[in-house]
Amino acid sequence: MKNSNEIKIAQKLIRCKSIAPNADSALKVVEKECKALGFKCKKLRFSEKGYDSISNLYAEIGSGKPHFSFAGHVDVVPAEKKEWAIDPFAGKIKNNFLIGRGAVDMKSAIACFLSSAKSFLNENNNFKGKISMMITSDEETYAWLGTRKILQWLKKKNIKIDNCLVGEPTNLKVLGDQIKIGRRGGFNCMVEVQGKEGHSAWPNRTINPVSGLMKMLTNIDKKVLDKGTKHFQPSIISVTSIDVGNEALNVIPAKARGSFNIRFNTNHTIKSLTKWIKKEFNKVGLKYKLETYVSGNAFLTKPGKFSELIKKCIKKITKRNPKYATDGGTSDARFIKDYTNVVEFGLVGKTMHTNNEKVSLKDLKNLTKIYKLILKEYFK
Ligand SMILES: [Zn+2]
Repeated sequence: MKNSNEIKIAQKLIRCKSIAPNADSALKVVEKECKALGFKCKKLRFSEKGYDSISNLYAEIGSGKPHFSFAGHVDVVPAEKKEWAIDPFAGKIKNNFLIGRGAVDMKSAIACFLSSAKSFLNENNNFKGKISMMITSDEETYAWLGTRKILQWLKKKNIKIDNCLVGEPTNLKVLGDQIKIGRRGGFNCMVEVQGKEGHSAWPNRTINPVSGLMKMLTNIDKKVLDKGTKHFQPSIISVTSIDVGNEALNVIPAKARGSFNIRFNTNHTIKSLTKWIKKEFNKVGLKYKLETYVSGNAFLTKPGKFSELIKKCIKKITKRNPKYATDGGTSDARFIKDYTNVVEFGLVGKTMHTNNEKVSLKDLKNLTKIYKLILKEYFK
Protein backbone atom coordinates (compact mmCIF):
# COMPACT_ATOMS: atom_id res chain seq x y z
CA MET A 1 0.00 0.00 0.00
CA LYS A 2 1.27 3.46 -0.89
CA ASN A 3 1.75 5.68 2.13
CA SER A 4 -0.73 8.51 2.19
CA ASN A 5 0.10 12.18 2.29
CA GLU A 6 -0.22 12.58 6.08
CA ILE A 7 2.04 9.60 6.75
CA LYS A 8 4.74 10.98 4.48
CA ILE A 9 4.58 14.42 6.10
CA ALA A 10 4.59 12.92 9.60
CA GLN A 11 7.68 10.88 8.71
CA LYS A 12 9.44 13.97 7.36
CA LEU A 13 8.64 15.84 10.57
CA ILE A 14 9.79 13.03 12.86
CA ARG A 15 13.10 12.89 10.95
CA CYS A 16 13.79 16.49 12.00
CA LYS A 17 15.44 16.26 15.39
CA SER A 18 13.49 19.24 16.70
CA ILE A 19 14.09 19.04 20.43
CA ALA A 20 12.41 22.03 22.08
CA PRO A 21 12.96 24.84 21.41
CA ASN A 22 15.17 24.21 18.34
CA ALA A 23 12.61 23.22 15.77
CA ASP A 24 13.61 25.30 12.74
CA SER A 25 14.11 22.23 10.55
CA ALA A 26 10.59 20.95 11.25
CA LEU A 27 9.08 24.42 10.79
CA LYS A 28 10.70 24.50 7.36
CA VAL A 29 8.95 21.27 6.42
CA VAL A 30 5.60 22.75 7.46
CA GLU A 31 6.31 25.98 5.60
CA LYS A 32 7.16 24.13 2.40
CA GLU A 33 3.98 22.06 2.60
CA CYS A 34 1.90 25.17 3.32
CA LYS A 35 3.39 27.06 0.40
CA ALA A 36 2.67 24.17 -1.95
CA LEU A 37 -1.01 24.47 -0.97
CA GLY A 38 -1.02 28.21 -1.63
CA PHE A 39 -0.81 29.40 1.99
CA LYS A 40 0.88 32.74 2.58
CA CYS A 41 3.58 32.08 5.17
CA LYS A 42 5.13 34.37 7.72
CA LYS A 43 8.08 33.24 9.79
CA LEU A 44 8.03 34.90 13.17
CA ARG A 45 11.03 34.92 15.43
CA PHE A 46 10.45 36.29 18.90
CA SER A 47 12.91 37.05 21.64
CA GLU A 48 12.79 38.37 25.15
CA LYS A 49 15.42 38.87 27.82
CA GLY A 50 16.12 35.67 29.72
CA TYR A 51 14.78 33.33 27.01
CA ASP A 52 16.21 31.69 23.88
CA SER A 53 14.72 33.31 20.79
CA ILE A 54 11.97 31.17 19.30
CA SER A 55 10.92 30.48 15.69
CA ASN A 56 7.26 30.28 14.78
CA LEU A 57 5.19 30.04 11.65
CA TYR A 58 1.92 31.71 10.79
CA ALA A 59 0.32 30.64 7.51
CA GLU A 60 -3.02 31.55 6.01
CA ILE A 61 -5.12 31.01 2.93
CA GLY A 62 -8.34 32.69 1.86
CA SER A 63 -9.79 35.94 3.15
CA GLY A 64 -12.51 37.42 5.28
CA LYS A 65 -14.77 35.62 7.71
CA PRO A 66 -15.09 33.07 9.14
CA HIS A 67 -11.48 32.49 10.13
CA PHE A 68 -10.63 28.96 11.23
CA SER A 69 -7.21 28.28 12.72
CA PHE A 70 -5.26 25.08 13.37
CA ALA A 71 -2.73 25.42 16.20
CA GLY A 72 0.11 23.21 17.27
CA HIS A 73 3.81 22.73 17.89
CA VAL A 74 6.62 20.93 16.07
CA ASP A 75 9.07 20.84 18.97
CA VAL A 76 9.39 17.61 20.93
CA VAL A 77 10.77 16.41 24.25
CA PRO A 78 14.17 14.66 24.11
CA ALA A 79 14.51 10.96 23.28
CA GLU A 80 17.30 8.67 24.47
CA LYS A 81 18.07 6.50 21.44
CA LYS A 82 19.33 3.53 23.45
CA GLU A 83 16.06 3.32 25.37
CA TRP A 84 14.05 2.89 22.18
CA ALA A 85 13.47 -0.24 20.12
CA ILE A 86 13.76 1.88 16.96
CA ASP A 87 15.68 5.10 16.27
CA PRO A 88 13.26 7.80 17.58
CA PHE A 89 14.19 10.13 14.72
CA ALA A 90 14.06 7.67 11.81
CA GLY A 91 10.32 7.92 11.16
CA LYS A 92 10.02 4.17 10.65
CA ILE A 93 6.81 2.20 10.25
CA LYS A 94 6.43 -1.19 11.91
CA ASN A 95 3.29 -3.33 12.15
CA ASN A 96 1.14 -0.46 10.91
CA PHE A 97 2.45 1.96 13.51
CA LEU A 98 4.57 5.01 12.83
CA ILE A 99 7.16 5.13 15.61
CA GLY A 100 9.16 8.14 16.71
CA ARG A 101 9.40 11.12 19.00
CA GLY A 102 6.49 13.40 18.17
CA ALA A 103 4.42 10.60 16.62
CA VAL A 104 1.49 11.58 18.85
CA ASP A 105 2.69 14.81 20.52
CA MET A 106 2.19 16.29 18.03
CA LYS A 107 3.92 16.13 14.68
CA SER A 108 1.45 13.65 13.23
CA ALA A 109 -1.47 15.94 14.03
CA ILE A 110 0.31 18.73 12.15
CA ALA A 111 0.70 16.33 9.23
CA CYS A 112 -3.08 15.72 9.45
CA PHE A 113 -3.72 19.50 9.47
CA LEU A 114 -1.76 19.77 6.22
CA SER A 115 -3.16 16.70 4.56
CA SER A 116 -6.76 17.57 5.43
CA ALA A 117 -6.30 21.15 4.21
CA LYS A 118 -4.89 19.84 0.96
CA SER A 119 -7.78 17.57 0.26
CA PHE A 120 -10.34 20.18 1.41
CA LEU A 121 -8.80 22.85 -0.86
CA ASN A 122 -8.72 20.44 -3.80
CA GLU A 123 -12.48 20.10 -3.60
CA ASN A 124 -13.40 23.57 -2.32
CA ASN A 125 -10.97 26.03 -3.83
CA ASN A 126 -13.61 28.77 -3.71
CA PHE A 127 -14.40 28.44 -0.02
CA LYS A 128 -15.48 31.62 1.72
CA GLY A 129 -13.35 32.57 4.69
CA LYS A 130 -9.87 31.91 5.92
CA ILE A 131 -7.87 28.91 7.14
CA SER A 132 -4.71 29.54 9.11
CA MET A 133 -2.04 27.61 10.97
CA MET A 134 -0.19 28.78 14.06
CA ILE A 135 2.81 26.54 14.53
CA THR A 136 5.31 27.04 17.30
CA SER A 137 8.51 25.46 18.59
CA ASP A 138 8.55 26.11 22.31
CA GLU A 139 5.45 24.35 23.64
CA GLU A 140 7.53 21.70 25.40
CA THR A 141 9.65 24.30 27.22
CA TYR A 142 8.60 27.67 28.61
CA ALA A 143 5.93 28.28 25.95
CA TRP A 144 6.60 31.96 26.45
CA LEU A 145 7.65 33.07 22.97
CA GLY A 146 5.50 30.80 20.85
CA THR A 147 1.71 30.76 20.62
CA ARG A 148 1.45 33.54 23.18
CA LYS A 149 3.56 35.84 20.99
CA ILE A 150 1.92 34.81 17.71
CA LEU A 151 -1.42 35.82 19.21
CA GLN A 152 -0.06 39.20 20.27
CA TRP A 153 1.35 39.68 16.77
CA LEU A 154 -1.99 38.76 15.17
CA LYS A 155 -3.77 41.23 17.40
CA LYS A 156 -1.41 44.01 16.34
CA LYS A 157 -2.04 43.06 12.70
CA ASN A 158 -5.77 43.14 13.36
CA ILE A 159 -6.15 39.51 12.34
CA LYS A 160 -9.03 37.99 14.23
CA ILE A 161 -9.49 34.24 14.55
CA ASP A 162 -13.09 33.09 14.98
CA ASN A 163 -12.43 29.51 16.04
CA CYS A 164 -9.30 27.57 16.83
CA LEU A 165 -8.62 23.85 16.88
CA VAL A 166 -5.51 22.69 18.76
CA GLY A 167 -4.21 19.28 17.67
CA GLU A 168 -2.74 18.12 20.98
CA PRO A 169 -3.33 14.45 21.81
CA THR A 170 -6.66 14.49 23.66
CA ASN A 171 -7.88 10.89 23.48
CA LEU A 172 -7.23 8.46 26.33
CA LYS A 173 -7.57 5.05 24.71
CA VAL A 174 -9.04 5.28 21.22
CA LEU A 175 -9.42 7.98 18.61
CA GLY A 176 -12.69 9.74 19.30
CA ASP A 177 -13.07 9.20 23.04
CA GLN A 178 -12.33 12.77 24.18
CA ILE A 179 -12.38 16.40 23.10
CA LYS A 180 -10.79 18.94 25.40
CA ILE A 181 -12.81 22.04 26.13
CA GLY A 182 -10.64 23.38 28.91
CA ARG A 183 -7.63 22.64 30.98
CA ARG A 184 -6.83 22.52 34.62
CA GLY A 185 -4.64 25.27 35.97
CA GLY A 186 -1.19 24.43 37.20
CA PHE A 187 1.59 25.88 39.20
CA ASN A 188 4.81 24.80 40.84
CA CYS A 189 5.96 26.17 44.16
CA MET A 190 9.25 26.18 45.99
CA VAL A 191 9.39 26.94 49.67
CA GLU A 192 12.56 27.68 51.60
CA VAL A 193 12.25 27.50 55.36
CA GLN A 194 14.65 29.53 57.48
CA GLY A 195 15.73 28.00 60.79
CA LYS A 196 18.69 28.44 63.09
CA GLU A 197 21.56 26.00 62.69
CA GLY A 198 23.34 24.26 65.56
CA HIS A 199 24.49 21.02 67.20
CA SER A 200 21.79 18.38 67.19
CA ALA A 201 22.67 17.49 70.82
CA TRP A 202 21.27 20.87 71.88
CA PRO A 203 18.20 21.19 69.71
CA ASN A 204 16.71 23.83 72.01
CA ARG A 205 19.46 26.24 70.88
CA THR A 206 18.33 25.75 67.28
CA ILE A 207 15.26 26.21 65.15
CA ASN A 208 14.89 23.11 63.03
CA PRO A 209 13.80 24.06 59.49
CA VAL A 210 13.52 20.40 58.49
CA SER A 211 10.82 19.55 61.00
CA GLY A 212 9.18 22.90 60.23
CA LEU A 213 9.15 22.13 56.53
CA MET A 214 7.69 18.69 57.14
CA LYS A 215 4.84 20.15 59.18
CA MET A 216 4.19 22.83 56.58
CA LEU A 217 4.05 20.35 53.72
CA THR A 218 1.88 17.95 55.72
CA ASN A 219 -0.59 20.81 56.16
CA ILE A 220 -1.12 20.99 52.39
CA ASP A 221 -0.21 17.54 51.06
CA LYS A 222 -3.12 15.56 49.61
CA LYS A 223 -5.63 18.07 50.95
CA VAL A 224 -9.04 17.76 49.33
CA LEU A 225 -9.44 21.17 47.79
CA ASP A 226 -12.85 20.59 46.24
CA LYS A 227 -15.06 17.84 44.87
CA GLY A 228 -14.55 18.71 41.22
CA THR A 229 -17.08 20.31 38.88
CA LYS A 230 -19.23 19.12 36.00
CA HIS A 231 -16.28 19.31 33.64
CA PHE A 232 -13.31 19.09 36.02
CA GLN A 233 -11.68 16.56 38.33
CA PRO A 234 -11.02 17.61 41.94
CA SER A 235 -7.94 19.81 42.42
CA ILE A 236 -4.82 18.10 43.75
CA ILE A 237 -1.51 18.99 45.36
CA SER A 238 1.54 16.76 45.15
CA VAL A 239 4.72 17.31 47.11
CA THR A 240 7.51 16.69 44.61
CA SER A 241 10.74 17.24 46.52
CA ILE A 242 12.33 17.92 49.88
CA ASP A 243 15.90 19.15 49.72
CA VAL A 244 18.17 19.83 52.64
CA GLY A 245 21.57 18.78 51.32
CA ASN A 246 22.84 18.23 54.83
CA GLU A 247 25.82 15.86 54.88
CA ALA A 248 26.59 16.21 58.58
CA LEU A 249 24.95 13.75 60.95
CA ASN A 250 24.96 15.98 64.04
CA VAL A 251 24.09 19.39 62.63
CA ILE A 252 20.68 20.92 62.40
CA PRO A 253 20.85 22.93 59.18
CA ALA A 254 19.89 26.56 58.74
CA LYS A 255 17.61 26.01 55.76
CA ALA A 256 15.39 23.40 54.17
CA ARG A 257 13.64 23.49 50.83
CA GLY A 258 10.61 21.75 49.45
CA SER A 259 8.68 21.80 46.17
CA PHE A 260 5.14 20.95 45.28
CA ASN A 261 2.85 21.01 42.29
CA ILE A 262 -0.81 21.96 42.14
CA ARG A 263 -3.36 21.07 39.45
CA PHE A 264 -6.58 22.87 39.99
CA ASN A 265 -10.00 23.47 38.49
CA THR A 266 -12.12 26.58 38.00
CA ASN A 267 -13.06 26.64 41.71
CA HIS A 268 -9.66 28.21 42.38
CA THR A 269 -7.22 30.73 41.03
CA ILE A 270 -3.50 31.02 41.53
CA LYS A 271 -4.20 33.95 43.83
CA SER A 272 -6.73 32.12 46.01
CA LEU A 273 -4.50 29.05 46.29
CA THR A 274 -1.42 31.07 47.18
CA LYS A 275 -3.39 32.75 49.94
CA TRP A 276 -4.51 29.38 51.29
CA ILE A 277 -0.99 27.92 51.16
CA LYS A 278 0.40 30.88 53.10
CA LYS A 279 -2.30 30.51 55.72
CA GLU A 280 -1.42 26.82 56.20
CA PHE A 281 2.32 27.55 56.30
CA ASN A 282 1.92 30.42 58.77
CA LYS A 283 0.31 28.02 61.26
CA VAL A 284 3.76 26.43 61.76
CA GLY A 285 5.26 29.77 62.71
CA LEU A 286 8.63 29.63 60.94
CA LYS A 287 10.10 32.16 58.54
CA TYR A 288 9.92 31.06 54.92
CA LYS A 289 10.21 32.23 51.32
CA LEU A 290 7.66 31.04 48.80
CA GLU A 291 8.36 31.14 45.08
CA THR A 292 5.74 30.20 42.53
CA TYR A 293 6.16 29.23 38.88
CA VAL A 294 2.86 29.64 37.19
CA SER A 295 1.77 27.73 34.10
CA GLY A 296 -1.75 29.13 34.04
CA ASN A 297 -5.18 29.38 35.57
CA ALA A 298 -7.85 26.80 34.86
CA PHE A 299 -10.23 27.59 32.01
CA LEU A 300 -13.28 26.19 30.32
CA THR A 301 -14.68 26.87 26.87
CA LYS A 302 -18.38 26.32 27.44
CA PRO A 303 -19.69 23.68 25.01
CA GLY A 304 -21.34 25.43 22.07
CA LYS A 305 -21.71 25.47 18.30
CA PHE A 306 -18.03 24.92 17.53
CA SER A 307 -17.44 22.06 19.96
CA GLU A 308 -20.70 20.44 18.85
CA LEU A 309 -19.59 20.65 15.21
CA ILE A 310 -16.32 18.94 16.09
CA LYS A 311 -18.14 16.31 18.10
CA LYS A 312 -20.44 15.58 15.18
CA CYS A 313 -17.53 15.15 12.75
CA ILE A 314 -15.66 12.82 15.13
CA LYS A 315 -18.78 10.73 15.59
CA LYS A 316 -19.32 10.44 11.86
CA ILE A 317 -15.82 9.12 11.19
CA THR A 318 -15.12 7.06 14.34
CA LYS A 319 -18.68 6.04 15.30
CA ARG A 320 -17.82 7.15 18.82
CA ASN A 321 -19.44 9.84 20.87
CA PRO A 322 -16.55 11.84 22.36
CA LYS A 323 -16.70 13.12 25.92
CA TYR A 324 -15.91 16.72 26.79
CA ALA A 325 -12.84 16.60 29.02
CA THR A 326 -10.38 18.85 30.83
CA ASP A 327 -7.85 16.38 32.25
CA GLY A 328 -4.11 16.18 31.74
CA GLY A 329 -1.45 18.88 31.73
CA THR A 330 -1.52 22.35 30.28
CA SER A 331 -1.31 23.29 26.62
CA ASP A 332 -1.07 26.41 24.51
CA ALA A 333 -4.87 26.53 24.47
CA ARG A 334 -4.49 28.43 27.74
CA PHE A 335 -3.20 31.42 25.73
CA ILE A 336 -5.59 31.01 22.80
CA LYS A 337 -8.67 31.06 25.04
CA ASP A 338 -8.01 34.75 25.78
CA TYR A 339 -8.46 35.56 22.09
CA THR A 340 -10.96 33.15 20.64
CA ASN A 341 -13.11 30.06 21.01
CA VAL A 342 -10.72 27.10 21.34
CA VAL A 343 -11.23 23.35 21.35
CA GLU A 344 -8.59 20.60 21.33
CA PHE A 345 -8.73 17.35 19.44
CA GLY A 346 -5.85 15.17 18.29
CA LEU A 347 -4.49 11.66 18.60
CA VAL A 348 -4.41 9.10 21.41
CA GLY A 349 -2.04 10.36 24.09
CA LYS A 350 -1.11 7.06 25.72
CA THR A 351 2.51 6.98 24.47
CA MET A 352 3.25 10.70 24.51
CA HIS A 353 6.58 11.60 26.12
CA THR A 354 7.39 7.88 26.55
CA ASN A 355 10.01 5.72 24.85
CA ASN A 356 8.68 4.13 21.65
CA GLU A 357 6.04 6.81 21.13
CA LYS A 358 3.84 5.62 18.29
CA VAL A 359 0.70 6.25 16.29
CA SER A 360 -1.38 3.78 14.35
CA LEU A 361 -1.60 4.49 10.63
CA LYS A 362 -5.33 4.01 10.86
CA ASP A 363 -5.62 6.81 13.43
CA LEU A 364 -3.54 9.05 11.19
CA LYS A 365 -5.88 8.40 8.30
CA ASN A 366 -9.00 8.90 10.41
CA LEU A 367 -7.75 12.07 12.07
CA THR A 368 -7.13 13.51 8.59
CA LYS A 369 -10.68 12.55 7.62
CA ILE A 370 -12.06 14.18 10.77
CA TYR A 371 -10.14 17.42 10.23
CA LYS A 372 -11.27 17.54 6.61
CA LEU A 373 -14.88 17.00 7.59
CA ILE A 374 -14.54 19.76 10.20
CA LEU A 375 -13.31 22.15 7.50
CA LYS A 376 -16.14 21.10 5.19
CA GLU A 377 -18.83 21.55 7.84
CA TYR A 378 -17.29 24.77 9.13
CA PHE A 379 -17.21 26.47 5.73
CA LYS A 380 -20.52 25.04 4.55
ZN1 LIG B 1 2.10 18.70 22.78
